[in-house]
Amino acid sequence: MNTATLGRSTFEKTFLIFFFPLVIGFYLIYKYPLLFVDSEQEVVQYFYWFGKSTSFWYSTVYSGLIVFICARVLLRGKTPYGKAKGKKLSTYQRNKFLSILLSQAILFYILPFIIPGLKQDGGFFADNYSPLNKNAYVYVYNGFTSIGGFVYIFVLVPLSVWFLGKRYCSWFCACGNLAEAIGVTKLGSRWVEMYTPRSENSRKLEVIQYFFLAAAIGFGILLFLDTWKIFSAGSFLSAYRASQDLVVDLIFGALIGVGAYPIWGTRIWCRYGCPLAAGMRLYGKYTKSKFKVQANGKCKGLNLCTTQCPMGIDVASFAHKDGTPISGSFNLDNSPCIGCGGCIDICPVQALEFGKILSGEKINTTGVCS
Ligand code: SF4
Ligand code: SF4
Ligand code: SF4
Repeated sequence: MNTATLGRSTFEKTFLIFFFPLVIGFYLIYKYPLLFVDSEQEVVQYFYWFGKSTSFWYSTVYSGLIVFICARVLLRGKTPYGKAKGKKLSTYQRNKFLSILLSQAILFYILPFIIPGLKQDGGFFADNYSPLNKNAYVYVYNGFTSIGGFVYIFVLVPLSVWFLGKRYCSWFCACGNLAEAIGVTKLGSRWVEMYTPRSENSRKLEVIQYFFLAAAIGFGILLFLDTWKIFSAGSFLSAYRASQDLVVDLIFGALIGVGAYPIWGTRIWCRYGCPLAAGMRLYGKYTKSKFKVQANGKCKGLNLCTTQCPMGIDVASFAHKDGTPISGSFNLDNSPCIGCGGCIDICPVQALEFGKILSGEKINTTGVCS
């Protein structure tokens, strides 16, 4: 793991001074406004600016940033990866950034925040106080408490993993959308390249994610039993919820997950914390998902692919051995790959490819005809 302060510019150091406190402050007001004021009326009075909730403003900033970065990448039409930024944007990357832009704008912003606002009594700028659903962050919770959630978590996501690997994380997820967008900005790509943990030990620590998965499933089952009045353990559930709030949601999800972008790259939460990612990886491993990244023997040993990977995968070790090209491959058996395609896009000699889903042939995802 690199030292976090190594080689920072003055601009970056100044940015960092404000970034972390800003993330913490914004997050605390967003999730726990009652820590700062005495009543729900005061939350509306002090934090519902122009009659809109903190959730609305948080999502406006969050989604706006993602849409802006993706639109910029799409309009420029050049790859955002590496130093060869003059290279044409590949079809794969164009579709990926389009998917991020549309999912974030429509599914995670317009549908939950704009449409209900337009329909509500009193007009768009008259939100009533509504506390956040503190269970949603554990991701698998909805799978235990609603039919729609069950189908989504236990049918649709596994099906997508079987065909597409964990591309859900780089094409669609609301959390992953921010990581993916920030990861191609000037500062973000520097954080990914220089500060993503890549040591052997950092890979072993990925096992932590399975503990989060076990805890999330345990919590989901308890909530299910409680909802259906099969078994109730009210005080245990509140204690569990409080500890998840603190450990998973605040410390790991927000402070480390987003606040640590400049320290450990953009995918720390996705690599070590997210229970859904752990579930996807296990599912992909045991159902032999069609997903794989394959080296084709053209490698020149430049190692750019490894430095580009936000998940800390030593991609180059599958493409060459001491400078001699090899045709290794990896999938969800031996990596936490999210299929972002950054390693493929940055390789100047097109030595990496995704395995084609149905025929087993390879597809060329670069913008260059081969
Ligand atoms: S790892 Fe989890 S949080 Fe990250 S992109 Fe995937 S599903 Fe979303
Ligand atoms: S696959 Fe491409 S980027 Fe990776 S080491 Fe080989 S030549 Fe370099
Ligand atoms: S191995 Fe390549 S495709 Fe997979 S996460 Fe890393 S950079 Fe993205």
